[in-house]
Amino acid sequence: SLVFNQIKLVGFKSFVDPTDFVIEPGLTGIVGPNGCGKSNLLEAIRWVMGANSAKAMRGGAMDDVIFSGTKQRPGRNQAHVTLTIDNKARIAPPMFNDDDTLEVSRIITKGQGSKYQVNNKTVRAKDIQLLFADASTGANSPALVRQGQINELISAKPSNRRKILEEAAGISGLHTRRHEAELR
Ligand code: ATP
Ligand code: MG
Repeated sequence: SLVFNQIKLVGFKSFVDPTDFVIEPGLTGIVGPNGCGKSNLLEAIRWVMGANSAKAMRGGAMDDVIFSGTKQRPGRNQAHVTLTIDNKARIAPPMFNDDDTLEVSRIITKGQGSKYQVNNKTVRAKDIQLLFADASTGANSPALVRQGQINELISAKPSNRRKILEEAAGISGLHTRRHEAELR
């Protein structure tokens, strides 16, 4: 699968100042007191991978991911997340497969929606979906387990449980591809 090396957040939720996290190989744990930003960091990873739903993002409007200000500091009008991926194994889709390193960015500007870039070139949301679909690390992948998700799986209706299992089996990318093919 794709190897995540680093994530950088600027103006994303509580991470108002530029913040870099190096992601070491193996299992990663995030620890810290309540409200320190653990879930926000996980959300940033989902968000840069294409997540949009209120469920994945714990909130309503798209703009809610932008630092909204505190008593001490004014809000921002932009949030920027960059995920650095090692693609030496050349497992990304063909359009991304010329480079050893992929810098995947998503940038949102208040009231203007978001855009994606890979190595500073603008790409479609669909391209990002396909990049992560194959890696079984998609935005809804079982590799990232939200608070409350275990309960959802246990109490899910059969049709919803099927969706979760398809994601786990790594075949949900095929639906995106089939949809693309039908549009052509
Ligand atoms: P817990 O251990 O309780 O799960 P946590 O470490 O997961 O806590 P988060 O939910 O990541 O904490 O962070 C919550 C903090 O982020 C709150 O202080 C909240 O005010 C702040 N926050 C969330 N969205 C924004 C935003 N758009 N702008 C500024 N701050 C935000
Ligand atoms: Mg949390």
